[in-house]
Amino acid sequence: MSKKVALITGAGQGIGKSIALQLSADGFEVALTGRHLDKMQAVADEINGNGGHAIAIQSDVQSKAEVDQAVAATVAKLGQLNVYVNNAGIAVVDPVAETTEAEMRRLLDINVMGALFGIQAAAKQFKKQGTPGKIINASSIAGHEGFPMLGGYSATKFAIRGLTQAAAKELAKDHITVNAYCPGIVLTPMWDEIDDKLTTLENKPKGSALKDAVDGIALGRGEEPKDVSNLVSFLASDKADYITGQAILVDGGIKYV
Ligand code: NAD
Repeated sequence: MSKKVALITGAGQGIGKSIALQLSADGFEVALTGRHLDKMQAVADEINGNGGHAIAIQSDVQSKAEVDQAVAATVAKLGQLNVYVNNAGIAVVDPVAETTEAEMRRLLDINVMGALFGIQAAAKQFKKQGTPGKIINASSIAGHEGFPMLGGYSATKFAIRGLTQAAAKELAKDHITVNAYCPGIVLTPMWDEIDDKLTTLENKPKGSALKDAVDGIALGRGEEPKDVSNLVSFLASDKADYITGQAILVDGGIKYV
């Protein structure tokens, strides 16, 4: 029987890379998509060197055509699609009052439109195959509570929860589940950028914003990408067949819902 196939967006670094490595270790063939082909290829080479099977595809989630093409290329090369991880995302650090129209539109284009296009492309392919499928979206603790200086970002991560719930209800009849992961303070390049901007805006020493955020975590350490990919591994597996429409926190104890 052919191996199941997972596509991960924004898989060149951080959480997306960790998800790609984990799903490969779980036995999936993986398609890595992102804007920078060289970064995707480097992760694919690592996976292929470890005995897995990965392909790299250049695709910007802001473009519906490119998202559709990424699914088509995955199916052409790997035969099918079973799991789609809408991981790509950006953060913008600014007070709500100073968030520019251009910044907000970019946040919406990447974090929300990108996820919408991904849900649409994946659901279309699952229905064409006549197979069950799993769609897994990146939300955040900022999708459960608006964070100061991250207002626009928080709005996009709330939007992911709305899309996840609505799509889960609509697609359940086709045996397609839709869930989201909600990380906390993950030690990736995204938080390096957030710390840099926050400390500049608040005139504080570099690293202090990240330290303050990590100090507030009940389990006493910053989150590793692996903490997130462990949850995604479960959500992508048969063990999560009866879970849909959920936005699950994996934050070491920051938000309690
Ligand atoms: P990251 O910045 O390290 O990686 C994000 C990836 O998305 C990068 O590879 C980037 O190139 C890619 N990307 C950005 N715009 C894209 C586009 N238009 N098309 C395709 N790919 C694009 O961030 P990360 O920390 O690994 O975050 C991954 C996801 O998890 C994001 O959706 C983020 O919002 C979410 N998240 C992160 C944290 C955190 O603390 N780092 C917390 C909660 C949620």
